[in-house]
Amino acid sequence: ESKLELVRSHIRSFPDFPKKGIVFRDVCPILKNPAALAALTDLFEEHVRTSYQQVDLIVGENLKGTTSVLMEHGVLMLPAVPPGLDARGFLFGPLLAQRLGLGFVLIRKKGKLPGSTTSVTFDLEYGQAEVEIQDDVVDPGQKVLIIDDLLATGGTLCAAWELLKQQQAEVLGCLVVIELLDLQGKNKVKPLPVFSLTHY
Ligand code: 5GP
Repeated sequence: ESKLELVRSHIRSFPDFPKKGIVFRDVCPILKNPAALAALTDLFEEHVRTSYQQVDLIVGENLKGTTSVLMEHGVLMLPAVPPGLDARGFLFGPLLAQRLGLGFVLIRKKGKLPGSTTSVTFDLEYGQAEVEIQDDVVDPGQKVLIIDDLLATGGTLCAAWELLKQQQAEVLGCLVVIELLDLQGKNKVKPLPVFSLTHY
């Protein structure tokens, strides 16, 4: 069984969650299976090592719960999980960062990080996301990769990208486990390259 197959076979789909009409892609079985989690980390690591000469930091995000309602391409997107419970952007990032010998940095919704911070308010189709980073964690010019579990509309990724640009980081690209093709999130974040392991 290939590594990709192993990852893919550990993504569960739940129709009508959290709302009717939305198929929720659940990455929890990957975390529960050590071989699948190792395969996923291997695939990300191979991609980063072959695609980038230098990366300084891996950045993860957990922004859901800040957005209210997104309506794009006729699809109603609600925050996948109630506010405060969702941190899937943080699940895979530290593992990858360790493999690469890099540090991992968090972007969070406003009010969660201590010390001096910078935040940006990012307009989404409907609603806003206010995201925040600690001021001393990214140096100007550092090359960073953003990692998240899933790319849907791209709103979350754009918000993180915007914040990192304000920190004068050089955002090289984004890594996601799952890309929802219908929502064309890749177009929204152009020209930022997005590497996705699986597509639905
Ligand atoms: P976007 O901002 O691209 O519309 O939504 C992406 C964010 O929503 C990701 O941070 C992801 O955690 C969350 N998300 C939306 N739908 C799903 C889903 O079906 N499964 C999972 N695991 N996360 C989702």
